[in-house]
Amino acid sequence: MAIPLRQTLKVGRYLMEQRMRGKDKYALVLQLEPLYQCNLACAGCGKIQHPDDILRRRLTVEQCVAAAEECEAPMISIAGGEPLVHREIDKIVEALVARKRFVYLCTNGLLLEKKLDLFTPSPYFCFSIHIDGLRDRHDESVNRRGTFDKAVAAAREARRRGFRVTTNTTFFDMDSAQSIREVLDFLNDDLQVDTMQISPGYAYEKAPDQEHWLQVEKTHRLFREAFAGGRRQHWRLNHSPLFLDFLEGKVDFQCTAWGIPCYSVFGWQRPCYLMADGYVSSYRELLETTEWDSYGRGRDPRCANCMAHCGYEPTAVAATSASLRESLRAAADTVRGQISNVSWRGRISAPPGAPGTGAEPGEGTRQIA
Ligand code: SF4
Ligand code: SF4
Repeated sequence: MAIPLRQTLKVGRYLMEQRMRGKDKYALVLQLEPLYQCNLACAGCGKIQHPDDILRRRLTVEQCVAAAEECEAPMISIAGGEPLVHREIDKIVEALVARKRFVYLCTNGLLLEKKLDLFTPSPYFCFSIHIDGLRDRHDESVNRRGTFDKAVAAAREARRRGFRVTTNTTFFDMDSAQSIREVLDFLNDDLQVDTMQISPGYAYEKAPDQEHWLQVEKTHRLFREAFAGGRRQHWRLNHSPLFLDFLEGKVDFQCTAWGIPCYSVFGWQRPCYLMADGYVSSYRELLETTEWDSYGRGRDPRCANCMAHCGYEPTAVAATSASLRESLRAAADTVRGQISNVSWRGRISAPPGAPGTGAEPGEGTRQIA
């Protein structure tokens, strides 16, 4: 795993401060959705289902900064829609990075190469590129051929220019342990992104394709098999060890939906970015007026199959920080990730097949579809 050390330390300090202030509910990551409009129409996406007048709406830079300052989350994931369609996205990123928040700009990659000049590399900033599988699988998932190649080319160019690059991949029921291994091996060893984020697909209400989503038991089996043989340790996954245990079914816990609140053109969304049971005008109001105990598996039938990062990673992080054993385990993973990152960054300029590149001769042109 490879969450940067600076980020691990800052988030650890933030968690300790929350405990010292006696707060039991706080934001870990702000899910910021400054627009719903997108330049793709993926099968499982519920964000683009809104009517045109909503799709035309934008959050301003000031609204984005105010949301970040109000909820205090140390990490901010800018999603959408496609954030690069927003005309002031560079100003939003700049303002949040200036406040030393760790910003992940989620993108499908189509506009990335064209817009790279708008951004400056920073340890506080990372592009998070949506890649759901190798070429055929990804292009099918986003309903457009050529998208995988564009996203991969953009990731390479961003890395070449010194940006941090992570990927986010959602797995559906048509995925197998083998297809999970193939895409994560490709992202980790061939594309050599800094970190990778993964999520089991969850059939939230607005998503039009309700067929291809994972159920809990199937999710456990799939990830247990995919992670076997030391791959979980080898991959630079942007998750806490406990969340990965959770995916494998080694631990179970409740959802902590208030840990990754969602702020969009409608306001603060209740209870999480997957479900919309109304909106309020402040994070405080969200915390104080939401019936949190009504949500989660075993409480709300709509949550029955959810194992999504937005609900369960905050629980895993809180459990990690409350346990010395888990904190040491997470620290060991961070150190291993740093060593892995240093090791591959030293190899970037080596040609495919050169000793130590992790690729066999000829693998640089591997057939990845
Ligand atoms: S790229 Fe993201 S926002 Fe756009 S349609 Fe696909 S899932 Fe939805
Ligand atoms: S389990 Fe939590 S994160 Fe998942 S849909 Fe329900 S409230 Fe949202």
